[in-house]
Amino acid sequence: MGKIILTGDRPTGRLHVGHYVGSLKRRVELQNSGEYDEVFIMIADAQALTDNADNPEKVRQNIIEVALDYLACGLDPKKSTLFIQSQVPELCELSFYYMNLVTVSRLQRNPTVKSEIQMRNFEASIPVGFFTYPISQAADITAFKATTVPVGEDQMPMLEQTREIVHKFNTVYGETLTMPEILLPDNKACLRLPGTDGKAKMSKSLGNCIYLSDSEADVKKKIMSMFTDPNHLRVEDPGQVEGNPVFIYLDAFCRDEHFAKYLPDYQNLDELKAHYTRGGLGDVKVKKFLNAVLQEELEPIRQRRKEWEKKIPEVYEILEAGSKKAEAVAAETLADVKRSMKINYFEDKELIAEQAKRFMEGEH
Ligand code: ATP
Ligand code: MG
Repeated sequence: MGKIILTGDRPTGRLHVGHYVGSLKRRVELQNSGEYDEVFIMIADAQALTDNADNPEKVRQNIIEVALDYLACGLDPKKSTLFIQSQVPELCELSFYYMNLVTVSRLQRNPTVKSEIQMRNFEASIPVGFFTYPISQAADITAFKATTVPVGEDQMPMLEQTREIVHKFNTVYGETLTMPEILLPDNKACLRLPGTDGKAKMSKSLGNCIYLSDSEADVKKKIMSMFTDPNHLRVEDPGQVEGNPVFIYLDAFCRDEHFAKYLPDYQNLDELKAHYTRGGLGDVKVKKFLNAVLQEELEPIRQRRKEWEKKIPEVYEILEAGSKKAEAVAAETLADVKRSMKINYFEDKELIAEQAKRFMEGEH
């Protein structure tokens, strides 16, 4: 059996550097590794609507933004299938059957959903669609027989839920679905990149993001006003690097060669951290270095995005072709699922013949 990737993003905003280190950069590497038979990248518009039902325009406008970010980062439509979730209706049908395999209390235990409910002030009235999105995510993953799901740490409970559904389905109906594995970033700092405000997660919904498409000036402005160690008031004060987002971003992005290029007084990040910790190193100097490192990473992405922005109709053609291909694959899985669940009445000639015989013989 081949190796297949499925992953994606909600079109609730442009993509940011958290998405980049958490999943996007890895996807491009995996796509180019030649080790995967198929790479499916989904723009999860139906999932985005579960908490934006009253704002479909937001979702609609952000589909192109996410697609442009994909292409800018190097996802290549010749190697990866880029598609839109809502254009693959088979995913809804799969979700509908998987819902029978999951209890309400199991969904209530999902820690990511719990914190997202709080964040959205949904405590009093959670939309059913939002509550059940981990099930729909299981449909997305299994529809493409994904073996590998490269995502950030916040997706761990979703993968766990999917694996439980696969196990349950295969136990009840016979071996049908592929068991997926999560692929988390190797670098600890990339598991869940914090926001520029120091909050635990950079998130489109929190407005604490550095977007891949931000201008050079905007990136610089955001970095220079980033939250750091609040007790590091004067340059000579000792500072804390743990939990300090500026150093977490450096952990995520900087390599030794950046020091030779932009900050030759230090050999590597350990030396810089040691100086900050003992005091005598100002935030501004560290932030300027981070800015240089990030700009180097983002500039080629920005340039490629500008090229694709001139070809919007072509981007939609890519998404349409990708969605058609994705639908064909999902339809095969759905047929397998229905066969296993014995809801394939019309193709089951044996069933029809056996019942015809039984009724003829008056045995019912
Ligand atoms: P929303 O607030 O609408 O949920 P989001 O910023 O959480 O948006 P998603 O589309 O939900 O983004 O997530 C897409 C992918 O990016 C997932 O694989 C997720 O794990 C990863 N991801 C999102 N935010 C971060 C982050 N701050 N650090 C690392 N990975 C992240
Ligand atoms: Mg999210």
